Amino acid sequence: MSAETETAVGETGESGCWCCGRITSEDALVHLGNHPEVGICVNCVHFLGRRARDYQATVMRQRLRGAAESVRGEVMARGWHRHPVAGPVLRWINQHLPW
Ligand SMILES: [Zn+2]
Repeated sequence: MSAETETAVGETGESGCWCCGRITSEDALVHLGNHPEVGICVNCVHFLGRRARDYQATVMRQRLRGAAESVRGEVMARGWHRHPVAGPVLRWINQHLPW
């Protein structure tokens, strides 16, 4: 948002979203805690929330994949996958993991 736009909208009680630039009333903006001068419209707040959830899901998938790889490595190193009783169960689990 430019300084000219800020001055123009500041006189009318409206302000621009710092994310999309849409001009809206000051009451309709969500302000950041450490930077109250930054206002974000509700649509952008929802968009940022979805981005945050997608990021968290990606991080969780990476952690689960890493844990599965670690367990798989331990099973292989110890030869448990060749055990007559536990082996078929471990191989079945390995085949049905999503990664
Ligand atoms: Zn916005």
